[in-house]
Amino acid sequence: MRAIAERFIKNTKMSKEEWIELLACAKDQETVDALTKEAVRIRRHYYGDKVYTRGLIEFSNYCRNDCYYCGIRRGNLHAHRYRLSKEEILECCEEGYALGFRTFVLQGGEDRWFTDERLAEIVREIRKRYQDCAITLSVGERSKESYRLLKEAGANRYLLRHETANPAHYGKLHPSSMSLTVRKQCLYDLKSLGYQVGAGFMVGSPGQTIECLAEDFLFLEELKPHMVGIGPFIPHHDTAFAKEAAGSVELTLYLLSLIRILLPKVLLPATTALGTLDPRGREKGLCAGANVVMPNLSPLRNRKQYDLYDNKICTGEEAAECRESLAKSVESVGYRLVDERGDAFEIEKESAR
Ligand code: SAM
Repeated sequence: MRAIAERFIKNTKMSKEEWIELLACAKDQETVDALTKEAVRIRRHYYGDKVYTRGLIEFSNYCRNDCYYCGIRRGNLHAHRYRLSKEEILECCEEGYALGFRTFVLQGGEDRWFTDERLAEIVREIRKRYQDCAITLSVGERSKESYRLLKEAGANRYLLRHETANPAHYGKLHPSSMSLTVRKQCLYDLKSLGYQVGAGFMVGSPGQTIECLAEDFLFLEELKPHMVGIGPFIPHHDTAFAKEAAGSVELTLYLLSLIRILLPKVLLPATTALGTLDPRGREKGLCAGANVVMPNLSPLRNRKQYDLYDNKICTGEEAAECRESLAKSVESVGYRLVDERGDAFEIEKESAR
């Protein structure tokens, strides 16, 4: 094992140069194996063999943003737009609850139709019906006041990937109307309001360098999010990045292990993008330190329309089928899918309702 990796295991506080050196070990198999082993040891120490599930409800693919990598960006005129009604969202929750899900993730594009009032009303209704469940929102950048209202309505968690912590790289991935400063401020606002917060980034997005990744790790260390979502970038045919190469599964796995060591108690999903690039991707993610999976609860008729990148998996499986096959594959690598809410460690007590 390289000296920098030994040093990281003993003390994760590192300079940008040290992060670059550690990230550059991605091709050194002995070092990767040693760090993976350490990540799995930590993961088992805190979570045993448990894998938490989150029922993902992709409730709208309308979006006011034009992120260059994303298939549902505003400028994609070929996207077939849809938006679920409150009743349809509640049906997804009902089906999910019966299947054992105790966290619902409401994810969508930045759809202005969902004003604070409309979204809060949906959150309130889910909270009323499922008091033992966590409600996670992933609906992009909103005002602090909006986040406050949604929290008061009953939301507990919020996923907002920072996408890249390097401002120039952020500018390459997004139009000038968007800024990393605003994105980061949203994350700090969410944290200050008491949400369990998830940040994250794509691995191998166009223009990403090892320096960018080092900055991502420094940002994660500073923010200390409760959850981190990373997955490989996958090109979408109707975007400016259609011809770019996809991110690497191996690098994503290595980064998952580093995140587990940096933030030992973090909730870390093995993402759909990882499963899309490699049929055993999600299982490999669990074996690298991940402890969460997010199967799809969206209505089958809309699955294909939430088309962030090409060849997305699970677009043809019923929720029950999806959960069942996932339970089997989780078991195949020595873990166990559980029907628990799976809160972030430190705030488990105060957020229990
Ligand atoms: N609008 C919300 C937001 O901005 O956080 C949530 C929805 S957004 C589509 C969810 C995530 O999908 C993004 O944070 C991004 O990292 C990921 N994503 C979008 N396009 C992708 C692509 N081509 N490959 C991999 N991941 C992608």
